[in-house]
Amino acid sequence: MTPGTKYNRVLLKISGEALMGDQGYGLHPPTVERIAKEVKSVHDLGVEICMVIGGGNIFRGLAGSAQGMERTTADYMGMLATVMNALAMQSALEGHGVFTRVISAIRMDEVAEPYIRRRAVRHLEKKRVCIFAAGTGNPYFTTDTAATLRANEMACEAIFKGTKVDGVYDSDPKKNPDAKRYEKVTYDEVLQKHLGVMDASAIALARDNSLPIIVFSLDEPGGFRGILAGQGTYTTVH
Ligand code: UDP
Repeated sequence: MTPGTKYNRVLLKISGEALMGDQGYGLHPPTVERIAKEVKSVHDLGVEICMVIGGGNIFRGLAGSAQGMERTTADYMGMLATVMNALAMQSALEGHGVFTRVISAIRMDEVAEPYIRRRAVRHLEKKRVCIFAAGTGNPYFTTDTAATLRANEMACEAIFKGTKVDGVYDSDPKKNPDAKRYEKVTYDEVLQKHLGVMDASAIALARDNSLPIIVFSLDEPGGFRGILAGQGTYTTVH
């Protein structure tokens, strides 16, 4: 067991929007930097870290297809957006001396390694942060499903989903002051009540492999490290 936490290997999932700060679009380097520091403080504990970053701050396939684009093409554009976010995070992490590999589900050998499971596992064993980019490599999926898939393949003990709120609520806490936070909630309840933690295919894949999802606030300074040590507020989906 890693001192300071019960986890040895985890996957951190963040949406692309987490990287855009207050800008409403694209990348906000100081925000990327802040999240990189959160990751570094967990890396310093000796925890092996996988990351999956969405692409919604740049492009979403569904939005493109709603405006008349062919859906699969739009989805490939969304996947490419995740590669840009992954490279930005790599740059920030390496600025802090954390060795990082961007591993892409779509081959683009000049900018990222191709995904080869055993190679990725070896990187983790050598304490390199692995950022899995380009989602699953398939249209009609999301980076939530990619996160669940990679977490299973890498034998992570849990997915940590960093969001703007400190867990899963029965209604939107930003709109309803009486919203109640779940301490624990089952995968089936998330699906039945449409609690919006992750999309249904991601939740089902986590459920079928008993992979816990821990939803926490990434806006809390030191939050990621605290949650790994069992402190702070969060929701476990199990
Ligand atoms: N995407 C895809 N297949 C995948 C992962 C992502 O087609 O396996 C595309 C999809 O168009 C999606 C976009 O990439 O809208 C960005 O990913 P996502 O919406 O999951 O990003 P987030 O909402 O987490 O920022």
